[in-house]
Amino acid sequence: MSAIEVIEPATAEVMESIPRAGAEEVDAAVAAAKAAFPAWRAVDPADRAAIMRSLADELERRSEDLSRLEARNAGKPIGDARGEIGMVVETYRYYSAAPERLLGQTIPVAGGVDMTFREPLGVVGLIVPWNFPLVIASWKCAPALAAGNTIVLKPAELTPLTALELEKIALDAGLPEGVLNVVAGPGSVCGKRLVEHPDVAKIAFTGSTEVGRGIAEGAAGTIKRVTLELGGKSANVVFADADLAAAAAAAPSAVFGNSGQDCCARSRILVEREAMDDFMTELEKAVRAMKVGDPLDEDTAMGPLISADQLETVGSFVPDDAPVAFRGEAPEGPGYWFPPTVLAPMTNDDRAAREEIFGPVACVIPFSGEEEAIRLANDTIYGLSGSVWTENGARAIRVVRALDTGVLSVNSNSSVRVSTPFGGFKQSGVGRELGPDALDHYTDVKNVYFAT
Ligand code: NDP
Repeated sequence: MSAIEVIEPATAEVMESIPRAGAEEVDAAVAAAKAAFPAWRAVDPADRAAIMRSLADELERRSEDLSRLEARNAGKPIGDARGEIGMVVETYRYYSAAPERLLGQTIPVAGGVDMTFREPLGVVGLIVPWNFPLVIASWKCAPALAAGNTIVLKPAELTPLTALELEKIALDAGLPEGVLNVVAGPGSVCGKRLVEHPDVAKIAFTGSTEVGRGIAEGAAGTIKRVTLELGGKSANVVFADADLAAAAAAAPSAVFGNSGQDCCARSRILVEREAMDDFMTELEKAVRAMKVGDPLDEDTAMGPLISADQLETVGSFVPDDAPVAFRGEAPEGPGYWFPPTVLAPMTNDDRAAREEIFGPVACVIPFSGEEEAIRLANDTIYGLSGSVWTENGARAIRVVRALDTGVLSVNSNSSVRVSTPFGGFKQSGVGRELGPDALDHYTDVKNVYFAT
């Protein structure tokens, strides 16, 4: 085993060195999860629920330490990290109600009775990215555990620390040995092995569309179930009849939150032509007011990018001749800093408006009328998230129904909640996480006919 040197993005210094897992460690983790599966699926539903509540309680007890660790390792503002760890706790609590509610059906048939059961899949492989490390892991782990599966979780090499803590906390909370295993190693080795492993029944992945495509191909060999949460290029559609001040005040955090490293980032701001000037005036005030700096400073609204590579990629979207309308601040010195940047006016054909940048760069694109707004918003390979701002309720309904997008909000940019489904249309993914729907992706339906 070589070592993973975990870097703190705000300082570009090593914060911890941990062993790097390889294919052998993945095989051992899968074997442990396979051995633990029969006993875990047989735990009485109420007892499984109690263990999950105990895990939520233990995570809550350690939430400040976990928040600080996540803030340092992922470079995210401490306030955001606290919000995320709060969501982690809430997610385990929400799914702790599921073991006793995994209902089947009875179906009227001739000559007897027909009933269905929702059975766990077995060992599930969960591959998560670096942008929301523990929270995205919880979206997968909690429904998987509730349904009676055992887990091998692979965090991103850039941000493995909170997942490794989770593995210990789960044992402290009473999860039996082998039920939740964490392997920290490269995707090209550990992720690939999980995808191809004959004893893994399902892969749940969050990350880039490119890697997701490879996972779908790799999983085909063993007909694994696959759910994919991939990239996005979401539109924030602002009609002239909207509350422009509210739309402009809310726009920066919807694209610069987490330094833009968010698959739901509303990175295309479509503004109806007659409202452009007023909207841009308000947007500039909001962007300039954003405090960019030390993630552990309570006032920070945006931290650094995750890595030197990400800094280079994001920079490539803002060449010297880019139409920069205005930018916010960014610290000098060590760390991977990039200022919040607004490009305007842009067209939907510009590279920055077509590709997922995963950095704090927003494109403002003017449009004329509802039809053009819908056409532009849908003119992308992605379909993850988005917003519609208008005071006209009928228009809001017409537009959200016409958008090829999985998760939308009206007069708000907030569309991710523990109790509601989350996932993408088109090349943004397959399947849904969170809410009642996630459980469908961690169970298979068994149909049984009883002759009477
Ligand atoms: P990746 O898609 O490469 O990484 C996501 C996860 O997949 C990580 O755990 C990674 O491991 C793992 N992985 C990488 N290659 C494989 C493989 N061949 N088989 C199985 N697992 C694999 O994202 P990046 O970190 O490279 O980010 C690149 C771009 O992806 C970003 O700029 C952004 O556009 C997009 N992205 C989208 C995310 C989203 O939330 N939808 C999240 C992250 C990125 P490891 O990193 O340890 O090698």
